[in-house]
This record gives sequence, structure tokens and C-alpha cells, in this order.
Amino acid sequence: RQTLRIGMIPADGIGHEVLPGAKAAIQALGSSIPKTEFVDLLAGFEYFTRTGTALPEDTVQALQNDCDCAMFGAVSSPSRKVAGYSSPIVALRKKLDLYANVRPVTSVASSPNEKPDVDLVVVRENTECLYVKDETQIIGPNGKEARAIRLITQRASRRIGEMAFKIALNRPRKGGFKHLTIIHKSNVLSVTDGLFRETVRAVPTLPGVDGKYDSVTVAEQLVDSAVYRLFREPHIYDVMVAPNLYGDIISDAAAALVGSLGLVPSVNAGDTFVMGEPVHGSAPDIAGQNIANPLAAIRSAALMLRHLGYTDGADRIERAADEVIREGKCLTPDLGGKSKTTEVVDEVVRRI
Ligand code: NAD
Ligand code: MN
Repeated sequence: RQTLRIGMIPADGIGHEVLPGAKAAIQALGSSIPKTEFVDLLAGFEYFTRTGTALPEDTVQALQNDCDCAMFGAVSSPSRKVAGYSSPIVALRKKLDLYANVRPVTSVASSPNEKPDVDLVVVRENTECLYVKDETQIIGPNGKEARAIRLITQRASRRIGEMAFKIALNRPRKGGFKHLTIIHKSNVLSVTDGLFRETVRAVPTLPGVDGKYDSVTVAEQLVDSAVYRLFREPHIYDVMVAPNLYGDIISDAAAALVGSLGLVPSVNAGDTFVMGEPVHGSAPDIAGQNIANPLAAIRSAALMLRHLGYTDGADRIERAADEVIREGKCLTPDLGGKSKTTEVVDEVVRRI
């Protein structure tokens, strides 16, 4: 296609404030990427409270039929059960088969030539584990009894494993070794996590791989000690691959190492579609004040472009964001600054 059609789904809370930043950054690239068209789409908890549906069929259709990729803001999902509501982002990941959630966590070194202290990627399986949301409650001899199914399949473990090896092999990393750590807890959950671990381990022996991953070293680690080591010696990690729930927790924890959730981007990727999404949620505590950090959303736009092969465009956005952080003069309050969301966006756009 001549134009790149990008679905825009701000959804809830600060999603409405940070997504315009992602759009502005993409637009600032001008002719270094194909002509872009933005398609505004509805979804979210706010939309649900107005209409009774969180993810309208029109949005799914538009993404599947009219868009090459998408950007998602953030969704508010209430912790209590609300009749008829289920999270549209979880549904979208399933409907579009976006089986990998790729979350780079990188600190900004004091100069562009130096190696950052933290430079890792969490590759999170995105379709199964406890997020199949198959929960039941019964009244048993001990009162209420709640259960959840935790699904791990060979197919999903294999494709996330392949994606993780591919990322470990190809990602640009300063002075870095190529290293994959498989995160699991198979000392306790030997059947489910055992299957995940074995299947990912076996990726280099799959037919057709032919030694392609020989330069990637592989280690494995129990999830709890991985969190401990992540905080004490983050530099030992390059790519971490994990089942859905562990991957969710580890990547939020890793975000603490680089100063703010408002800096950490992600993409939801499948074989035919990619959707950028900041790791943070809808942040109701700061929504509506124009103080949310737009850099996670802006970096997510860069990741989305990188995934589509627009490396130059992605580099330009990432470099601009890094410069703004490094200089430290135009930062939102989560990073100790006084700037507004829109001021940070303008500063990034100016540098692009
Ligand atoms: P959150 O990520 O929304 O906020 C956690 C803390 O980080 C808050 O103090 C918030 O102000 C701050 N923060 C987050 N993003 C920021 C940004 N860009 N700039 C500055 N500060 C930022 O997580 P939460 O408070 O646990 O959840 C709030 C809502 O978001 C809940 O309804 C939850 O279900 C939802 N949520 C959605 C997603 C998603 O859309 N993928 C992810 C996590 C949480
Ligand atoms: Mn999370």
C-alpha cells in the first residue's frame, strides 16, 4: 500500500493525553516514511459505561480490514467485577492474534556513545497463561472456593520462543552479548512452566533453524530470583522471555529501574499486525491535568515503526526522546520536572 493506515485507540484516562504525542511524533517524520493516515477508533471502559460495550465490532473490523497497524492508549479495568465488561486490550490481543508483547526497558546513558546501565527487552507471551480468564467460584467445604485455569500450549510457547530468539539475534545493543533468559517457576509448576521452558529451549533445534541462533547464549531463571537479580544487577539481562503473568510483572518492575512507567513502551505483535501501546495504565490519579508523560507512547510509536521495518523513522523518534530525557530540561512531574505533556511532545517533535 502507498499509505500507512494507523488505527488510533486512545481508550481511557491519560490514553487521550499521550496518544496525540505519538501521532505528532509520527507526523514529524514527514517523507521518511510513507504517507500516513490516522483512523480514530473507539474502545475502553468510558465507552462501555456509555454504551454497554467495551470493544465495538466496528473497531475490530476497521483494524482488521482498513489498518496496517495501530496505537493503543490505555484502558481502565476496574478490579471489582462489572457485569458485561471485559478488557478491550486483552480481547484485541486475542482477536488480532498479537501473541507477543515486546517491552524494551532501556536507561538513557549520559552520552549517546556510552552503554546504558539497563538495556533489556521483556518478551511476554500475550494470549494464554492465567489471562485466559477461565475463573470459577463454588461453595466448598471451606466456604467460597475460587479457581483459575492456567493454560500453556506448545504452539504458543514455541512462537513466543522463536520471537525471543529472533529479537536476541537482531536487536541493536551497545557492546552487548546476545543473551536470552527463560523465566519460569518449573520447580513448583513442573507441568505448565515445564512445558514453556522445554519448548523455548528447543527452538534452536527446530527444523530450518540451522545454527542461526548459535551466537545467542541461553540461560534460565526462576521468576522470583529473576526479580531479585533484576534489581541488583540489571546489566546481566538482555532478552527475557516469559509466560504472560510473569512477563507482565517483570516488565512493570523493570520500569522502576529507568525512573518511571511513563517511559516504557511496548508493542503487541503478531505475524500480520502490530499495535504500539505504552506499558502504563490509564493513571486516573493524574488524568485530565496535562501532566502525563507522553514518552512511553512516543517510544511505542517508534517501536511499532521499527517492527514494520521503518528503522530510520524509529531511530529518529527514539533519538529525539533520548535527547529530551538526557538534557533533563523538559520533563513531566513523574521524572521530577515541571513541564506539561504537550510541552514534552513539542520538544520531541522539534528535535525530530
Ligand atoms: P497505572 O499504570 O495507570 O498507574 C500507576 C502509577 O504510575 C500511577 O501513580 C500513575 O499516575 C503513574 N503513571 C502511569 N503512567 C504514567 C505516565 N505516562 N506519566 C506519569 N505517571 C504515570 O496503573 P494502575 O494505577 O495500577 O491502574 C490504573 C488503571 O489502569 C486500572 O484501571 C488498570 O486496570 C489500568 N491498567 C491498564 C493497562 C493497559 O491499558 N494495558 C495497564 C495497567 C493498568
Ligand atoms: Mn502491567
